[in-house]
Amino acid sequence: MPNFRRRPFRRRRRPFLADRRRPPPAARAALRQLKQAHELMDQNQPAEAAIIFDTLAEKGAKRLIPRAPQLYLQAGRAWIVAGEIERGMERLDTGLDLMVQMKQLRRLPVVSQRILTELKDHGLTDQAMVFEVKINDLFATYGLSLAAASTGAQKPRLPAKCTYCGGNVLPDEVEWFDNQQASCTYCGSLLEALT
Ligand SMILES: [Zn+2]
Repeated sequence: MPNFRRRPFRRRRRPFLADRRRPPPAARAALRQLKQAHELMDQNQPAEAAIIFDTLAEKGAKRLIPRAPQLYLQAGRAWIVAGEIERGMERLDTGLDLMVQMKQLRRLPVVSQRILTELKDHGLTDQAMVFEVKINDLFATYGLSLAAASTGAQKPRLPAKCTYCGGNVLPDEVEWFDNQQASCTYCGSLLEALT
């Protein structure tokens, strides 16, 4: 019978202390994939990008990371650009639902407004109408309004792209920590305002 009482003392190595600022390997791999997806979008290969966004979004949703909704929305956008409208709309739907589920209500009006504009710009009038009904329902349920999307306060300028993941920075949609620092909506990295 094994003796549980006498466990040999083992000195723990603590390499992570020296390496604390480096994200864990899984996070680094995800960041690399995200960067690749953004590059594919820039190179006009939206379907390839969409597949990567899908994977990252699903993984993110399983772990309930705050950026998961944004990844679904990005996947939706990529599928729509790739001409896979139905699949794209599904992802937008999931992204929006997840945003509500994760209580990211403050960002909901501005995000939905942008999606609506993009759908109309793509000539997807029917889809835009369906989407509008959905967001109006959500807004009614949570007491939000599209008017909240127009932000009066002037924020400082941010770089056009995130230096970590290469995503386009949307100043109205980022989470501001203070007047100088915001967090990237795709990867969560710190974005410093331009001086
Ligand atoms: Zn980023």
